[in-house]
Amino acid sequence: MDFDLNEEQRMWQKAVHDFVEAEVRPFAREADETGEFNWKAVRKMGPLGLLGLNIPEEYGGPGIDAVSAAIAIEELGWGCGSMALAIAAHNGLGSTPIVLYGSEQQKKWLPLVSSGQNKLGSLALTEPGAGSDLQGGVRTKAEKDGNEWAINGSKMWCTNASIAEYIITLVRTDPAGGSRSLSMIIVPTDAPGLTIGPPEKKMGLHGSPTHAVIYEDVRVPLVNLLGEEGKGLHQTLSTLDGGRIGIGAISVGLAQAAFEYATNYARERQAFGKPIAELQAIQWMLADMATQIEAARTLLYKAAWLKEQGRPYTMEAAMAKMFATEMAEKVCRDAIQVHGGYGYSQEYPLERLYRDARLMTIGEGTSEIQRLVIARQVLKMEF
Ligand SMILES: Cc1cc2nc3c(=O)[nH]c(=O)nc-3n(C[C@H](O)[C@H](O)[C@H](O)COP(=O)(O)OP(=O)(O)OC[C@H]3O[C@@H](n4cnc5c(N)ncnc54)[C@H](O)[C@@H]3O)c2cc1C
Repeated sequence: MDFDLNEEQRMWQKAVHDFVEAEVRPFAREADETGEFNWKAVRKMGPLGLLGLNIPEEYGGPGIDAVSAAIAIEELGWGCGSMALAIAAHNGLGSTPIVLYGSEQQKKWLPLVSSGQNKLGSLALTEPGAGSDLQGGVRTKAEKDGNEWAINGSKMWCTNASIAEYIITLVRTDPAGGSRSLSMIIVPTDAPGLTIGPPEKKMGLHGSPTHAVIYEDVRVPLVNLLGEEGKGLHQTLSTLDGGRIGIGAISVGLAQAAFEYATNYARERQAFGKPIAELQAIQWMLADMATQIEAARTLLYKAAWLKEQGRPYTMEAAMAKMFATEMAEKVCRDAIQVHGGYGYSQEYPLERLYRDARLMTIGEGTSEIQRLVIARQVLKMEF
């Protein structure tokens, strides 16, 4: 076994880290306070390859492996949760289904959205009445009318909708229901009848735009069907396997940032005549943080490695996502504890990290759903 990153991966990690430190991290607080999306940084991400993490070179991607892709999202998470979520959603949700299932015609979107010169990609699965239960709950429907799909319904919580070229939309194409009744359709955001709601007011991740989307007789050509008709649920689940590595990676990055702030603070802050780093209670918190981050990162890289080998990785991605997201919440909580009252202050970044981390156990499948996925695999049962 070899636990080291290879030379290429190390160089990539350093390049992304340096970029994030210069172009993303300094604006994280501003993004949180104003809700402004940091387009300036995104424009520069195109040439670096950060907007095409899962895209093959022939369609404009950087041609990196899945571990390197996870590393990039982790570094973004270290720099800014909002930016990390936007870029993870663009790569993992907005581009991957086209890479996996798109026709040659549809793949023409890929160089466009990965260049940094245009808007990004997004995926709309969740609805006001359906999140975890997409199969039973999706009501947005698409009906064939001549050579077009007519789409009606509404979606919730769509990351990047307002900064996207298109929204890949999960729709019901067979009103009879069942596991083969859903399909994915690419809907350009300038399609008449499509309304993107105002940005949702959220607990954290203020610099990552999230929107409701309304479809009122939206018409797109039949060729905008992505993959196979009736395979939308299957395509969604395999897209989410990869997306979960992304959410796990953001979580490891957020936790790493909180841990670094906590260790630095513990060395400087004095209590009872010595740095609090010399207090065993603080040392134990730091030791637990370091151990949990290491464990999460190892699970994450293993899941990414399996993906890269072309081996099944559904369970490992669910384990990595569940463990890393719950770990990040705890690490951010303890980093606030190490900072005492200052940890609770908006003058310090810890409370932002804590708010940003809170989403991670919910988005792209809640912790409860991850446990369900893992239990299914270990029990080898359908339920
Ligand atoms: C900031 C943000 C960004 C998002 N971005 C996107 C996006 O880009 N695209 C998109 O499609 N969606 C997005 N989402 C939606 C997100 O994926 C859903 O919120 C999530 O999947 C949970 O669905 P829900 O909110 O409907 O909760 P529900 O499914 O209603 O769940 C409510 C509770 O019940 C539990 N539960 C449900 N079913 C089970 C079960 N079978 N067993 C045990 N417990 C269960 C859940 O774990 C949860 O605790 C985003 C959400 C947020 C907050």
